Amino acid sequence: MIEVQSETMVQKKERMKAVIKRLHMEYPKAECSLTYITPQQLLVSTILSAQCTDERVNQVTPFLFKKYPSVKDFAYTNVEELAKDIHSCGYHNQKARAIKGASLVIWEEFGGTVPNTMEDLIKLPGVGRKTANCVLGTAFGIPSVVIDTHMVRIMGLLGFTDSKNPEKIEREIMEITPTEEWINLTHLIIDHGREICIARRPKCSDCRLNDICPSSLV
Ligand code: SF4
Repeated sequence: MIEVQSETMVQKKERMKAVIKRLHMEYPKAECSLTYITPQQLLVSTILSAQCTDERVNQVTPFLFKKYPSVKDFAYTNVEELAKDIHSCGYHNQKARAIKGASLVIWEEFGGTVPNTMEDLIKLPGVGRKTANCVLGTAFGIPSVVIDTHMVRIMGLLGFTDSKNPEKIEREIMEITPTEEWINLTHLIIDHGREICIARRPKCSDCRLNDICPSSLV
């Protein structure tokens, strides 16, 4: 049984390294499952993915990116029409306002180019740290950790945090994870949360981490 209370920072970092190594073996192809070409498209897809599956988003975006091929097209569209176009992703009115609002700011204040800093990204309407970190890491390759529901749950189960505050968890995880693994960790944990460490029914007996996880049920 792992005793996380008495674990030193060095031991925590070593255990995180082991977690990442094993997850790389388990999910060698872990990557963002949203389909996109440009940073703007990833931003739109990430906004759409809130409370919605990536599969559903990927069904909607081919048509959407054809109808709205540029930042300007999203910026000046009729918001009701955009809401209809993304209806199947849920929260369509709220998401349409966020996509149009963010695109308008990108067009008018950033010359049509999605900004590549946290400071500027979170100025965009509807964009919080989670979406911003996703765009920074996946579209720009800038080291960042996305704290989504899988990350909150699994980092808690692994005893790397006892917080539910995403910003605090982000800081804690960055402190114990090698910078070059920040982006990978996000994708690895999402895959692990979907396949093995599933909310409410984690498959601990099939989990490669069960001997280094304090919450293991085996
Ligand atoms: S051992 Fe169980 S609780 Fe721990 S990470 Fe694996 S599936 Fe999740």
